Amino acid sequence: MAFEPPGPDVRREAIGDIAGLSPVLHRAFSVDASEFEPIPKPGPHDWLAVHPELGQTFDQFTKSHPNRPTESRRVIYLQPLGEFDADRSPSIERLREFAAAFFAMEVKALPTVSLDASKFTTRHNPNTGNLQILTGDVLDFLKTRVPAEAFCVLAITMEDLYPEPSWNFVFGQASLRERVGVYSFARYDSAFYGEPRVSGYERVLLRRSCKVLAHETSHMFGLAHCIYFNCLMNGSNHLAESDRRPLHLCLVCLRKLQRSVGFDVLERYSAMDRVARAKGLADEADWLSRRIKTVRGE
Ligand SMILES: [Zn+2]
Ligand SMILES: [Zn+2]
Repeated sequence: MAFEPPGPDVRREAIGDIAGLSPVLHRAFSVDASEFEPIPKPGPHDWLAVHPELGQTFDQFTKSHPNRPTESRRVIYLQPLGEFDADRSPSIERLREFAAAFFAMEVKALPTVSLDASKFTTRHNPNTGNLQILTGDVLDFLKTRVPAEAFCVLAITMEDLYPEPSWNFVFGQASLRERVGVYSFARYDSAFYGEPRVSGYERVLLRRSCKVLAHETSHMFGLAHCIYFNCLMNGSNHLAESDRRPLHLCLVCLRKLQRSVGFDVLERYSAMDRVARAKGLADEADWLSRRIKTVRGE
């Protein structure tokens, strides 16, 4: 059955009952906020046309008993895998800063692990000729090295990935139970497709990489794909669709993450605003400034 965008009542219901919340949280999750657009009807090649999902309301999220950070498991670890050459890769430190603001949690980068052939199965993709790493090997490797204080460990790499020999490629793979995942930024670089790197390329790659990191890490908190608003947690089937996706969470998804982490919504938005401005993500910073005013009730 074709996906139909949900109406206002369904969107309101997905946020859940906010009647008993503090004035700040009430404004933070109020469907009347003007900063969010309802999800549009998908184009023929878009994610929801190909994968008609049912969505996950806030109440369904809490009933699913997702992994939550605890006093002892409270750090998000990034595990760089292979080289992050400065001229074609996002900076690990910038990704780390972005994730720390986004999740309002401590984020630590582990020392880079080299692509040692004895650790990981690799191949050259029969179509592109590019080097690819087998995701299962990376997950097995990470599982044996999860630090005691880790909420999750995410390997990030500029190399392409594949999940099994019959597949062409995969953007990433995770095991929620084991709290490990691996994601590649290789296909967010236009040079991967043999296209020139346009001016402002670094900013484009940084924005795309921050988006992947925030989307995939949010899955580790049990957030499923979003079907209610234009949202970071929308599924995406191709690069243009993922570029259309915003860098922030909608009302429904924000409430889920806030329930999980317990952050102060305004402090988190202010931290994200500072990071977005410092990294030249001006439109995101402007959105955050408008959003902060709404949540403050100004
Ligand atoms: Zn996803
Ligand atoms: Zn959402």
